[in-house]
Amino acid sequence: MIPRALAMLIVTLFALGPSACGGGGGASAHDGQEGRAETYKVVATVGMIADIARNVAGEHATVESIMSEGIDPHLYKPTRSDVVRLDSADVVFYNGLFLEGKMAEVLDKVRERGKPIFAVGELIGQRGYGLGESGQHYDPHLWMDVQAWILGVQAVAESLAQFDPAHADEYHSNEREYVSKLLALDAYARQVIGSIPESQRVLVTAHDAFAYMGRAYGLEVRGIQGISTESEAGLRHINELIDFLIARRLPAVFVESSVADKNVRALVEGAAAKGHEVRIGGSLFSDAMGAPGTYEGTYVGMIDHNVTIIARALGGDAPPRGLNGLLKAEQ
Ligand code: ZN
Repeated sequence: MIPRALAMLIVTLFALGPSACGGGGGASAHDGQEGRAETYKVVATVGMIADIARNVAGEHATVESIMSEGIDPHLYKPTRSDVVRLDSADVVFYNGLFLEGKMAEVLDKVRERGKPIFAVGELIGQRGYGLGESGQHYDPHLWMDVQAWILGVQAVAESLAQFDPAHADEYHSNEREYVSKLLALDAYARQVIGSIPESQRVLVTAHDAFAYMGRAYGLEVRGIQGISTESEAGLRHINELIDFLIARRLPAVFVESSVADKNVRALVEGAAAKGHEVRIGGSLFSDAMGAPGTYEGTYVGMIDHNVTIIARALGGDAPPRGLNGLLKAEQ
């Protein structure tokens, strides 16, 4: 089990700051001096970035995300209604670093029109985080390291404070409150991944979305496909991975909610044909969160789900209902 002292620390961090969003000090939200009397509209490409904007903007903005659960951002082509939605936004956030590979043109047009638009992934790099490389590009999957994502929260708060200076204090107070939750999440992830027996700290998944998670929490990571799901996994590469699974006697591999699972199933079958039983440890949220309105449909819930499932399937020690269950038990 998670040591009692750490559990208490995690729970305390999570509960820090004023309750729920929209708290915080500063002038009344509705005094309207030089501030915006009405809410403005934020549009983000992916759910993880929309989630930051929701937590930071509080009651001052409506926040929409273009891609919902199960959508692969590497392959997503913007529709006509996405273009309309971006046109109607007051502020736009996207990840950048080629995550939204097929949206580049549309996002460029938004920028050319002079609308405030911010690439959160690039801003994380500018805040001193060491971006990982793969092929000719930087690895865009920054949300997989909670410490990197905290820099993203700070970048979004800075951007919104710049866009709507009258409520800057509130955005920064919301930022601090959300960051304390993410610090608890980071401590939890470190603890449960660290509880996996060392020889089994290997994550084999459908595509290379987890390199930052591996670097941050001490997991060796192997993806069947490359950084983008656009590259096809070669048969030879699959065979090499099967031999790797057998040599390391790994108990589990993982599918992803936004990537087809046929390659992962080929690994399981290939290992079985050679006499090694490996099971599917669960479905991870790699490039999209869970359904809106569910716990996994939040960034905290997404990462909690991932690290809890990984730890349990690889022989580590994680509470049955993850960080969420831990928080409920302590309250
Ligand atoms: Zn990806």
